[in-house]
Amino acid sequence: MQRLLFIVFSEIPTARKVAIITGGASGIGESTAILFSKHGAKIIIADVQDDLAKNVCKDLVSSAIFVHCDVTKESDVENVVNTAVAKYGKLDIMINNAGIAGAVKPNILDNEKSDFEQVININLVGAFLGTKHAARVMIPNRSGSIISTASVCSTIGGGGSHAYTGSKHGLVGLTKNTAVELGQHGIRVNCVSPYLVPTPLAKDALKLDDDGCKRAYSNLKGAVLGPEDVAEAALYLASNESKYVSGHNLLVDGGYTIVNAGLC
Ligand code: NAD
Repeated sequence: MQRLLFIVFSEIPTARKVAIITGGASGIGESTAILFSKHGAKIIIADVQDDLAKNVCKDLVSSAIFVHCDVTKESDVENVVNTAVAKYGKLDIMINNAGIAGAVKPNILDNEKSDFEQVININLVGAFLGTKHAARVMIPNRSGSIISTASVCSTIGGGGSHAYTGSKHGLVGLTKNTAVELGQHGIRVNCVSPYLVPTPLAKDALKLDDDGCKRAYSNLKGAVLGPEDVAEAALYLASNESKYVSGHNLLVDGGYTIVNAGLC
C-alpha cells in the first residue's frame, strides 16, 4: 500500500510540496494556487487583499492558509516564509508573482520618480525579498524552486510604461544571478513571462474588457491566453520534470515577442 501511494504521489508534480504564492488573491496567482492545490501542494497565499485571498484559500482542495504580506516590506516577507515553515515544516516552491502595472505614461517627461519607484518596489524589490527569504530556508534543505512572474516586457521595449518594462527586465537579471549562486545549493530559479492575460491588472492598465484582451494579438490562430496557461508553465518549473532547468525565462506568449520585438 505504501509503495502504491509512493508511486501515485511521485507522479503528481507538486504532491506534498509547500508553495508560497505572492499575489495569489487574484489573476495569475489565483490560478496558480488553484492548479498547484489540485496537484497536492500545500499553499500559502501572500497578498495585501485579505478578503479576496481568504476566499481563494477556502476554495482550494488542499491545505491552504493566507498570510497578509506586502512584498515591499521585508518583515512581511520574512514572516510569510517563517509561517510556511512553522505550519508545514519546509518551503519547496516560492512564486514571486505580486505585481502592478503602474501608470501607463509613454512619455518619460510625464513620469514621476515616485510612480517609477512604486512599480520597481513591488515588481522587482518584492521579488528580491521573496527570493532572499525563500533561499534562507531552502539552502539548508539543499532543494527548492523559485519562480517569478515576469512578462513579455522582460525581453522587449517600446511599450507604455518605462517602470514596468524596467522592473521586468530587472527580474530576469535577478533570476539569472540568483540561479548561478543558488544552483550550488540545489535550488533552481526561473521566470515565467506571459503576454496579455485578462486579469484586473491588464484590464485596468490597458482599459480593456475580456473581449478586448481576447482580440489582442495572438500568433497562434484560435488560441486565447488565460491565467491557467501561465499557471501550467509555473507548474512545470516547480516540478521535478524541470530538474535541469534553471536561470530560464519561459515565455508564454504564443510567439508574440519573435514577431513584435520592440512593441511591448
Ligand atoms: P492581478 O492584479 O490580478 O494580481 C496581482 C496581485 O498582486 C493582486 O492580488 C494584488 O493584490 C497583489 N499585489 C499587488 N501589490 C502587492 C504587494 N505590494 N504585496 C503583495 N501583493 C500585492 O494581476 P495579474 O495579471 O494576475 O498579475 C500577476 C503578475 O503577472 C504580475 O507580476 C504581473 O506583472 C504579471 N503579468 C501579468 C500580465 C497580464 O497581462 N495580466 C502579463 C505579464 C505579466
